[in-house]
Amino acid sequence: MFRLKIPATPFPAFREKPAGLPRAFVRQYPLMREPESLNLPRYQRQELFTGLGREGQRRLLNARVLLVGLGGRGSWLSEILVRAGVGMLRLVDDDTVDWTNIARQAMYDELDAAEHSPKVISAAECLSRINHNLDVEPIQTRLRENNIATLAEQMDLVLDATNDWASRFLINDYAVKMNVPWVFAGVVRDEGQVMSILPGRTACLRCLYEQPPSAEQQRGARASVLGVLGSAVAVVAALQANEAIKILAGRTEAVNPYLTKLDLWSNQLQQVAVARPDDDACPCCGQRRFDFLEP
Ligand SMILES: [Zn+2]
Repeated sequence: MFRLKIPATPFPAFREKPAGLPRAFVRQYPLMREPESLNLPRYQRQELFTGLGREGQRRLLNARVLLVGLGGRGSWLSEILVRAGVGMLRLVDDDTVDWTNIARQAMYDELDAAEHSPKVISAAECLSRINHNLDVEPIQTRLRENNIATLAEQMDLVLDATNDWASRFLINDYAVKMNVPWVFAGVVRDEGQVMSILPGRTACLRCLYEQPPSAEQQRGARASVLGVLGSAVAVVAALQANEAIKILAGRTEAVNPYLTKLDLWSNQLQQVAVARPDDDACPCCGQRRFDFLEP
């Protein structure tokens, strides 16, 4: 017999979902206002960091990000970015929360797993409690070539938090074609990789990998087959968020120009130089063929 124990919550009424209303749009507790009289702005500690400063923070507050995938990395990424004050976050995912997610995915709890809540809705709900001043837009769908232009329109950055190579190559095509920066990352077992892609300035994903792995290779490399360490997911997401903050704050000189590869269990970190081919050999950023966006 399944029994769910729900711990006491500071906002018990929040969990009472009126029939027919998505939970993301129900708020049954008073909003907490920051005490202006203390003159302690929320982002004071970040602004004191000279790499960012007040101008960097101002840019973050005006920034717009498309986050694709709300699983392990996406949940950590969105929480870090919302706490950091990124002005607008569009969350795209078509999955629901299950019990295998709780060990490594931030924000989701046992009630979300028991209800199989849509990840974008549970995430938007949690993020609005962390920072209600920002615009968080949950969209329960899967990224495809026929919706990426709409979803990514007017975005300053795209973050890949998928475990799906078709989506990554699609994002790469769109980003290079439209000159939008994006940050690629992946994690499985204890191993991760992160690379910032600034179209026209750095190598793109197809400079690194000309084609996605085969469907069979992808199936064999999934976290559901090989396993994944929750702490490795959080480390890789934090590195990705760190790159995102540099890009959004306009500090592109600080962006890591290397592919970072981590093996956290054996304590290895590699920074791999990835150059754009000299002869425009990359089908995407060299020859401007967008095979995944315009198949
Ligand atoms: Zn390229």
